Amino acid sequence: MGLFDRIKRAFTGEDAVVKEEIEKESSPIVFDKYDKGMEKTRKNFSDRIADLFSGFREIDEDFYEDLEEAFISADVGFNMTIALTDAIRDNIEEQNVTRMDDVKRVVIETMVRIYEQNESGTHELNTNPDGPTVILFVGVNGVGKTTSVGKIGYQLKQDGHKVLMAAADTFRAGAVEQLNVWGERLDIPVVTGPEQGDPASVVFDAVTQANKENYDYVLVDTAGRLQTKANLMKELEKIKRIIERENPNGVQEVLLVLDATTGQNALIQAKQFNEATEITGLVLTKLDGTAKGGVVLGVRYDLDIPVKYVGLGEQATDLQVFDAENYMFNLIKDVIDEEE
Ligand code: GDP
Repeated sequence: MGLFDRIKRAFTGEDAVVKEEIEKESSPIVFDKYDKGMEKTRKNFSDRIADLFSGFREIDEDFYEDLEEAFISADVGFNMTIALTDAIRDNIEEQNVTRMDDVKRVVIETMVRIYEQNESGTHELNTNPDGPTVILFVGVNGVGKTTSVGKIGYQLKQDGHKVLMAAADTFRAGAVEQLNVWGERLDIPVVTGPEQGDPASVVFDAVTQANKENYDYVLVDTAGRLQTKANLMKELEKIKRIIERENPNGVQEVLLVLDATTGQNALIQAKQFNEATEITGLVLTKLDGTAKGGVVLGVRYDLDIPVKYVGLGEQATDLQVFDAENYMFNLIKDVIDEEE
């Protein structure tokens, strides 16, 4: 059953049953992580919706304007806001609803439907059937790139894979050391080079070692700060070329790490990086620390790139494979509860 049908059922009084189903399908632990990690975003979002409806009398232009403002301030982004408001207007007119509860249901159902329509591709990592799976992590400094490499390394290792990490962020002071600390803690080997050294040579060493010693995954922490897009492009192309030479299937994933607390800035960064290289997935960190978690909807709408992981806390297990049902249900469940 699709997400849309589930949400519809939740609105018709089956919310407890729907919650149980989603919980069972993922696992109560995962559901709990989304529940806690999305607390701030959920509260912000349901407060806005509550405000919107507190003075509700009828559907008029003011209502649509307030609705737009609510979406903008939940950081879902400009384009998604316009698309949402237009679709909500159409649905309200088509279904001819006037009662507050019905309008609220239409608002939420439209959100879910638009999200579902834009939802393509899988959240699972692409893998290499003939050798080590190579994953490049890109993103500006401070977004949580190195931490995400460590957390994903930990999870892959827990799943029984042989993991190698490459500290190719040779330009940021301390980045190599930081990855070494993760490596020691997780007992995952880290390939390093000299600070300020050539990142591509670290990548070369890592892929050569991975081939020779039959590693399943090579996680590459790349440099975040390269002054211009042209430099960034050149650097990433060089890294990819070197990997392709050693590993015929090349790179399986280029994951862009974004800090959700930066809201619309994250969206701008995603666009810039996507112009410099082909991004295959997003890692949205620090969702737990922000009320701007609506940015997940914005990036999904504006860029055709799947969100693959979300950071819901500081622990290694808090970086979770993105699950649209858990995300959406945990975003809107307080709005549904207000119904009763
Ligand atoms: P980098 O410069 O992109 O490599 O960033 P770091 O990996 O050094 O991370 C910057 C900070 O963000 C660190 O203090 C991390 O602990 C923190 N951080 C990363 N991901 C998350 C997350 O999902 N939730 C929270 N609360 N903090 C995070």
